[in-house]
Amino acid sequence: MNINQFPKRNYTDHQTPIEYLERLSKHLGGPNIYMKRDDLLGLTAGGNKTRKLEYLMADALQQGADTVITCGAVQSNHCRLTLSAAIKEGLKCVLVLEERVPNSYNPEASGNNFLYKLLGVDDIIVVPGGSDMQGEMEKVADSLRQKGNKPYIIPGGGSNEIGSTGYVSCALEILEQLEEMNLSIDYMVAASGSGGTHSGLLTGLHGANANIPVLGISVNKKKQEQEQKIYNHTLKTAKHVGANVDFPREKVIVLDDYVGPGYSLETEGMREAVQLAARKEGILLDPVYTGKTMAGLIDLVRKDYFEKNDNVLFVHTGGAPALYAYTDSF
Ligand SMILES: *Cc1c(COP(=O)(O)O)cnc(C)c1O
Repeated sequence: MNINQFPKRNYTDHQTPIEYLERLSKHLGGPNIYMKRDDLLGLTAGGNKTRKLEYLMADALQQGADTVITCGAVQSNHCRLTLSAAIKEGLKCVLVLEERVPNSYNPEASGNNFLYKLLGVDDIIVVPGGSDMQGEMEKVADSLRQKGNKPYIIPGGGSNEIGSTGYVSCALEILEQLEEMNLSIDYMVAASGSGGTHSGLLTGLHGANANIPVLGISVNKKKQEQEQKIYNHTLKTAKHVGANVDFPREKVIVLDDYVGPGYSLETEGMREAVQLAARKEGILLDPVYTGKTMAGLIDLVRKDYFEKNDNVLFVHTGGAPALYAYTDSF
């Protein structure tokens, strides 16, 4: 495995901290909960897409792109961060937003939506839920090419093997930190959405022979579909970075009990998790990803999934700006 073979931009000049959440751990009375603070990554308000964009933007620049096109839901952290990276690199940015919940796009909405405007997005195109997002982005790319531009398409969530390399890198960063801290982790817990984070972590851990299971908490898809997607994606990422591709299928674990009525729709567990993280640790989670992921961790603690003195690392993938579009829920 060699991730240093790829061009990379640097959007965070430090490792993100691993913090022990003493008050939350005590409150739950279960294992020791640690948090990898990837909400503190660089670019506008941080979050996991920053790591993926370090590799994706380097690729776009190498190909001579002058515009990046990407897609996401109406309150997309990935769109906010892609726009932010484009600004930093002096590129234009066009966003294609999918109304996964009908009529959910409101140009006046707060949260990430407000930030698209503030950051001066070049264009926003809204398409109905279930649209062929790749096809929609290619249409935009065609029309830009006709005007003489050089567009570069970044897939939803930045989750191709280039973007996932950012989470292979994160896995290696975590292992280095754990060694410095002399800390042995029994489980990692992370959100599993478009999949780049989950599969990048699996690839990096496997590639480094680190035997730490990763519990992926689905925020959208059913267990079986998500596990297959993560498995396929892990094999692709492993091949890309030159890791062993003998990745065992049973190492892909997705729990789908915390999605609730659907992607981005609130649940009681999410509300409790967001409030607990805020009130016990002063840490902001988000309603769509990390809130539901923490709801999963809390539920697993209550079901005695872990031993009392296990060490569990929760990967905080960011998303807090979306909270401001959900103030009514709290
Ligand atoms: C995109 C996102 C995720 C999910 O990561 P994937 O790599 O898409 O699976 C988790 N948390 C936040 C805050 C996100 O924006």
